[in-house]
Amino acid sequence: MGKAFQHLELFMNPFKKGLFFTSIGVTIISIVTKGMFFLMNWLQKFMYGRHGTDQLNIALLVLYMILALIGQLTGLWFLYYLGFAVIIWAFFRMFSRNHEKRWAENQAFLGVWSPISSRILSFSRHQKDKTHRYFHCPKCKATLRVPKGQGKIEITCPKCQTVFVKKT
Ligand SMILES: [Zn+2]
Repeated sequence: MGKAFQHLELFMNPFKKGLFFTSIGVTIISIVTKGMFFLMNWLQKFMYGRHGTDQLNIALLVLYMILALIGQLTGLWFLYYLGFAVIIWAFFRMFSRNHEKRWAENQAFLGVWSPISSRILSFSRHQKDKTHRYFHCPKCKATLRVPKGQGKIEITCPKCQTVFVKKT
């Protein structure tokens, strides 16, 4: 019995309908899987020697999504164009063969972004800390961790010995 006929027979018999759809499903999954492997293989060959993705590209992708979302919410058309320009830039960087230049761009981006991200991270960590408060030394900017609920106290910076008063 041919495979096509088997499918036909299953289709005609309502009791075997579930099986029919299962076999259709398996066929679709196997085609999709093969297609995905083909695509991945092709992509791997295509991306060979190209810059690929880095932190700056991820940031550009996020920026694009933010611009698209705000554009959607506000109906401001220029945000769409801006988002479009951003995504074009991201793709250009991804497919670029000039590693050195792309690497330098990424380093410049990290130089700006790293202090911001570490500040955000430490802020959220400090917010979660219920037993301590965090202060910055007014002179050397060092972060000092002090137990909460001690009222107004004098704090001596362990780094530069500057004394300042804070409410804990
Ligand atoms: Zn200090």
